[in-house]
Amino acid sequence: MSDDATPGTAPTAPAKEPAPADPTPPSSGGLPGWAPWAVGAVVVVGLVAGAIAAFGGLGLGGPPPEPEREPDVVLVVMDTVRADHLHLCGHDKPNTPVMDGLKAEGWQVRCDAIAPAPWTVPSHVSFFTGVHYVDARQYDGDDGKTLAMQMADKGYDTLFLSANMVLRKTEVFTQGFRVTQTARNFNQLKGPRFPLALDEILQQADPEKPMFLFLNLVDAHAPYPPIPRGVTWAKPQRGIQHRRFETEGSSPFHRYMTGQMTPEESAKYKVQVENGYDYGIFLADQNIGAILDALRARGRMKNYRIVITSDHGELLGEHSVIGHGDTLFEPGLRVPFLYKDSSAEGAQLPEHQLNGIQAFYLLRDGKLGEIPDPPYATNYQAQGPESSNGLVMWTPDGEKLVWKNGERFRFDLKADPEEKNPLPIEGAPMLDRFEQLVEKNQPVIELEDQAKDPETIQLLRAAGYVE
Ligand SMILES: [Zn+2]
Repeated sequence: MSDDATPGTAPTAPAKEPAPADPTPPSSGGLPGWAPWAVGAVVVVGLVAGAIAAFGGLGLGGPPPEPEREPDVVLVVMDTVRADHLHLCGHDKPNTPVMDGLKAEGWQVRCDAIAPAPWTVPSHVSFFTGVHYVDARQYDGDDGKTLAMQMADKGYDTLFLSANMVLRKTEVFTQGFRVTQTARNFNQLKGPRFPLALDEILQQADPEKPMFLFLNLVDAHAPYPPIPRGVTWAKPQRGIQHRRFETEGSSPFHRYMTGQMTPEESAKYKVQVENGYDYGIFLADQNIGAILDALRARGRMKNYRIVITSDHGELLGEHSVIGHGDTLFEPGLRVPFLYKDSSAEGAQLPEHQLNGIQAFYLLRDGKLGEIPDPPYATNYQAQGPESSNGLVMWTPDGEKLVWKNGERFRFDLKADPEEKNPLPIEGAPMLDRFEQLVEKNQPVIELEDQAKDPETIQLLRAAGYVE
C-alpha cells in the first residue's frame, strides 16, 4: 500500500501513516486515522487521548498484562459494506488503506463471508445471539442471554456505540450493555464525529475489567457522503440521498429506480453512486484506524480479540436496484470479515463461505461455533401489510437456492455470477435441507410485534426500510 500514500485525502493532509502497524500510542497532534480537514475539534480530542495515555502510563513499556485477565473483545460492524467494493478484497479503488495494513500485519481476512440477513435488524440480532433471527425469536440458548449479558456475567465491562439509529430499539440490542450511545440520525456519528463519541464511551470504561465493546459505523450507509476535492480516485461530488419509497419528485435516485433515465444518464448516475459509496467505505476504513488507535492509547490492544465485519451489503445498480433491505442477491449478502486474536492459539477461519454469525462465537469463546452447514441467510422485513420474507442457502458446489415471498429460485453462481438466469428448482442439490429451512422460517413473515411498534416503524421509515 505504500505506493498510494494519500488515497482520498485532501491536498493539505499529511502523508498517511499505516496507523495500525505502529504499536506506540498515537501522537497528540490530532486524531490518528483522520486528516485535519475533517473537523477542527479532533485536535482537542487527540490531546485528551494523548494525555490519558501519558498519565495512565499505558503503552509505555510497562509490565505485560496479567495472564489471568480475559482478553478485551471488540465487535466492529461497518454497516452496509459489501466485500467486493473494498480495495482489501480486490476493488480497483484504493479505499481501504487501514484494512490493507491489517492484512499485511497478519489479520485473517475473508472476502466472501455471508451476512446473516440483508438488513440491519435481523443481522444484529444474529451477532448478539449466535443464531438466525427465526431462532432468536424463541432464543433460550444460554438462558436467553445476549452476548453482552453473557460477557457481563463473565466479569466484562460492556460498552455499546452505534452510529446506526435503527439499533435504538433498546430492549433488543442494548441488553447487557452498561454504557450505551446510539445516534439519532444517519449523519450524527458519521466520519470524524465517530471517534469523538468513542472517546467519550471509552472514558467510561472500567480500567479494572476486560471490555466487550460493540461499535457500528454507518459511513457507507446512505446517504452517501459528499466527495471533497483532492481525492485521487474520484471527482468531487455532492452527497447522494436515497429514499427507497419516494413516490414523487424528480430526484436522480427516484428517476433511476423508476426507470426514467436514458441509458446515458443512468450510466453516469451509477458512476456517481459507486464513487459516493466507495468514498463512504473509505471513511469507514479511516474510522477503523481511529478505533484501533483509541484502543491502543488505552492499553486495550495487548490482549484482545477483534472482529470487523458488516451486517449486509448494498446493491449499486445490479438488477436495477440501489440500496439494500429486501434483496437477496450476492452484493447484498457478501461481506468482509476480519479477525485478530492476540493470543498464539487463535481460531483459524474457514477459507470460504464463513458464516457471519461466527462473530458471536469467536468473540465469546475465541473459537468457531458448531453451526450446521451449509450456510444460509434469512430476511424478515417489518413493512406491515407488505412484509417480505426470504431465505438463501449456498450449497458447497456453488449453487444458491432462494425462497422469497413463496417463490423459489436457483442460481449456479459459477456459471451465472450475476444471478440473471435462474435454473429450475427441481433437482437442486440439498433441496431437502433447503425445504426444511423454508418450512421453519416461513411463519416469521408475520412479524406482528415489530410491525405494530410505532417507534420501530418510525426508525425504519427514517432509514428508508419502510414505506
Ligand atoms: Zn445495516
